Amino acid sequence: MTDFEINALLLSIKIGILSTILILVPGIFIGWVLAKKNFFGKTIVDSLIHLPLVIPPIGIGYILLIIFGKNTNLAKKWYKKNKFVESIFIENKLIKEEKNIKEKYENYLSIKNINTLNPQNLIEFYRKSLLREGVVFKNENIDNIYSYVDIPKNHIYDFVIVTTGSWSKEVFSEDHVKVKPIKGQLLHFKTKEKLLHNILLYNKYYIFSRGDNNIIAGATLEDVGFENNTTLEAEKNLKNFVYEIFNKSIKIRDSKMTFGFRPYSGNGKPYINRDLRNRRIIHNFGHYRYGILTAISSAKIVEKFIN
Ligand SMILES: Cc1cc2nc3c(=O)[nH]c(=O)nc-3n(C[C@H](O)[C@H](O)[C@H](O)COP(=O)(O)OP(=O)(O)OC[C@H]3O[C@@H](n4cnc5c(N)ncnc54)[C@H](O)[C@@H]3O)c2cc1C
Repeated sequence: MTDFEINALLLSIKIGILSTILILVPGIFIGWVLAKKNFFGKTIVDSLIHLPLVIPPIGIGYILLIIFGKNTNLAKKWYKKNKFVESIFIENKLIKEEKNIKEKYENYLSIKNINTLNPQNLIEFYRKSLLREGVVFKNENIDNIYSYVDIPKNHIYDFVIVTTGSWSKEVFSEDHVKVKPIKGQLLHFKTKEKLLHNILLYNKYYIFSRGDNNIIAGATLEDVGFENNTTLEAEKNLKNFVYEIFNKSIKIRDSKMTFGFRPYSGNGKPYINRDLRNRRIIHNFGHYRYGILTAISSAKIVEKFIN
């Protein structure tokens, strides 16, 4: 059993025990009253008591979710207790960690277990691993996914998993796919020496080193469609951010701007599901800012659909 299934089972057992304890005395009393007494409104009380038996369990689950699902304080406590993200608030000591950052930035929240990777290296790693597994890359441009799966030569595929990120709406040409691109521009530059040791987040931008003297700062969040270029305005804003946080006048060398599109679904939740029109099509797109972080867990969910 997976951790998720074990948790679901334990939760059911806990709820079963707790609800039995809670209902035992009032349940016996109400049962006795309904069996032995006659009173005005007895039919209504009887119906209310039996309602949970009539509504399918999923209905009860839904009602419970609506009633208790907004208890964010409880959710926060649970989140903290489980230590998904370990963080410590540190006062007056940023200069000890980062001697090149202005002294006025003193307090900071330190978050453990954050890593960086170069997405190009990750893509290359996956590409090579898949090639080793015998996967063939066809580099076809797909106009419409429904016509694509219906072509007789594509009947050999049991499933077609759609991972077209920001372009997914176009591939489906259907209104129910709401994904749109949110452009992100990054500033890459070199410095004479290593200036940063951590990933810093300040206001809306982050900055980190890749290798010793390569620094990346970013990223913009722009709702400008598939605007296919970097802009001087973004470059200026990112450079100002860099000049603003470092304590000495650093020289930005060999700078270049890059950009990418984050697939935004409107509510931050990705589409990972079977297509309603064609069950051979599986959706896996709309991961917005977390596509790299959530790639493995998304693939695990997709795996469940195809097995
Ligand atoms: C600046 C920036 C910083 C980011 N930082 C992070 C981060 O720190 N952590 C994180 O987890 N995520 C981050 N992301 C988000 C992450 O990059 C995306 O969530 C992720 O790339 C989405 O992956 P994907 O495979 O769904 O889509 P994509 O990577 O966009 O890939 C979609 C692919 O589909 C192809 N395609 C599109 N249309 C068609 C078609 N018609 N036919 C055939 N192929 C097609 C495209 O060519 C592309 O190769 C960042 C994104 C940006 C822009």
